Amino acid sequence: MSIAANNPALGSWVEVPAGSDFPIQNLPFGIFKTNQLTPRVGVRIGDQVLDLKSLFVLGYMENLPFELSDFDAPFLNNLMKKGKKATRDLRNRISKLLDVNQSDLQKNEHHVNQVLLAAETVEMCMPVQIGDYTDFYSSREHATNVGVMFRDPANALLPNWLWIPVGYHGRSSSVILSGEPIYRPKGQIKPDPQADPIYAPCRNLDFELETAFITFDGKALGDSISTAEAEEFIFGMALFNDWSARDIQTWEYVPLGPFLAKNFASSLSAWIVTLDALEPFKVDGPKQEPEVLSYLKYEGQKSYDIDLEVFIQPENSAESRVSHSNFKYMYWNMAQQLAHHTVNGCNIRCGDLMGSGTISGPTEDSYGSMLELAWKGTKPLHLVDGSERKFIQDNDTVIMRGFASKDGVRVGFGEVSTKVLAAK
Ligand code: MN
Repeated sequence: MSIAANNPALGSWVEVPAGSDFPIQNLPFGIFKTNQLTPRVGVRIGDQVLDLKSLFVLGYMENLPFELSDFDAPFLNNLMKKGKKATRDLRNRISKLLDVNQSDLQKNEHHVNQVLLAAETVEMCMPVQIGDYTDFYSSREHATNVGVMFRDPANALLPNWLWIPVGYHGRSSSVILSGEPIYRPKGQIKPDPQADPIYAPCRNLDFELETAFITFDGKALGDSISTAEAEEFIFGMALFNDWSARDIQTWEYVPLGPFLAKNFASSLSAWIVTLDALEPFKVDGPKQEPEVLSYLKYEGQKSYDIDLEVFIQPENSAESRVSHSNFKYMYWNMAQQLAHHTVNGCNIRCGDLMGSGTISGPTEDSYGSMLELAWKGTKPLHLVDGSERKFIQDNDTVIMRGFASKDGVRVGFGEVSTKVLAAK
């Protein structure tokens, strides 16, 4: 597929610093506000934010199927309601307006001053009104590590894992924006396996390095989305930290799975990178053996080469990188996840969020959670300030960053950053 806005030769008249996550080939969507401006749709380029409401009012969106309320809105949902073709055309239009070889907007200084704002002067808002949130468990390395630690090293993967993109339904009310702090959760834990459980603050607070994808409206209840159709139902991706209370999880998860160990918070990055912008970075996924059932088979490349990193920053201290992973390690791809999610006729809606599951790689420094990196607390990590971590401490900030890079073009996500405060 050839998408005009992805051309590596494109350049913009808006200055883009070297190494920026946001060149003209990216153009991710988000929601921003300022003291003067109500929340509205923005597109990021370099260190600037393009105000799509103002762009619409000034007449630059002609012959596109959008109206003012699609951009003058506190969430991207109205815009996403218009579907894949409309949002693709919109991104291509914005690319043209920002192209160094196009003069319409570039030469109108009065308009440029109205539609471009320095990113540091705007406040980012939650980009999507999330309807339903589903989290998968699709990294073989992660599932294997957990199985080795808690079950049987010889049979680490449960019998269903290589057949089913395993997932669970999460809770959208506690999905928060990057930058918003969280409080250490409290609950039932059982520090002494021989004694009764106690009620206390979580002691084993963990992150999960994930990405998330945001959906368009799906099909009617009862219908399914095939792997071939799946990309038509995905708007874009973001970074996602699925916070986890391991000690609460250990005690509560039998027999129905994740509950209070998960639903106290999950953090989302502010800019939604369209699936279109990630198209040039497609790669093969891992070989799947045994052969998957027919509805999970797919043609072509469905994985993406997205470099992912996790940093821990203690209070008043420098960041330490604790993990370096990649989206391409995922065993089950997003098309398979969506096909599986709808194979029973379950419907998806515009603004649903699907977490990838913890993305662990094959090496010890590429694991996507503290549980694995410090191996259940037996191998503490050493941070640059000399301190050690088995899990996340109060006043630590966990930062995840990610980008794809090819042919001199870097398409990035920015970051998802969350500080942990002491339990309330
Ligand atoms: Mn998760």
